[in-house]
Amino acid sequence: MFHRIFALLFPPRCVLCHKFLQKDEQDFCHDCRKNAPVCEKSNFPFSFLAGWTAVWYYKDTVRKSILRFKFAGQRSYGSVYGRVLAMKLQEANLTDFDLLTWVPVSPLRRLHRGYDQVELLVNAVGKELGVTPCKTLRKFRHTPPQSGINNVYRRRANVLGVYKPVHPENIGGKRILLLDDVITTGATVSECAKTLLAAGAKAVYCGAIAVSEYHTKKCR
Ligand SMILES: [Zn+2]
Repeated sequence: MFHRIFALLFPPRCVLCHKFLQKDEQDFCHDCRKNAPVCEKSNFPFSFLAGWTAVWYYKDTVRKSILRFKFAGQRSYGSVYGRVLAMKLQEANLTDFDLLTWVPVSPLRRLHRGYDQVELLVNAVGKELGVTPCKTLRKFRHTPPQSGINNVYRRRANVLGVYKPVHPENIGGKRILLLDDVITTGATVSECAKTLLAAGAKAVYCGAIAVSEYHTKKCR
């Protein structure tokens, strides 16, 4: 009963374009299933990453969807993104790892937002792949958001040395799959991978919901 009232008050919308869904549609409308900007290339060599993949390019409806997930309280997107990212990781042969982890936000940002969106994502991916995620990194300094900085060098400087390993004894010799919501310049995931490798990880791979199209154009 409650679900029916909830559905009447808040009819489900497409996770990407935010239009109301038809009865035969789930999570995404037919149009977005067909035309979403799927990331096809993932061979750009980001520093310290042994491999990576992303579901979509970070633009148009994908960008707006992720902004709702991060800043407008759309926590439920975590499980939808988790399902599609788990499928993409399987397609990209990135499921042969020893440890699943994520890029953490600073405690201050988590407090302000009420949740860590990447933790929601990693829990959903872990559920799909039958793996329990493990916290390996801590962001110990609050920094201005990367999204507000356009210059690649300033983005690198902004995250330099801000992550520390949690329980380094769990990291040594492991092949680690690191998840993040968006890879833009790669500064954040590279910094996290560097921290994990310095703590003894064998290799670090990365999976994200979306990536800046720039990186894949560059290696065509
Ligand atoms: Zn749609």
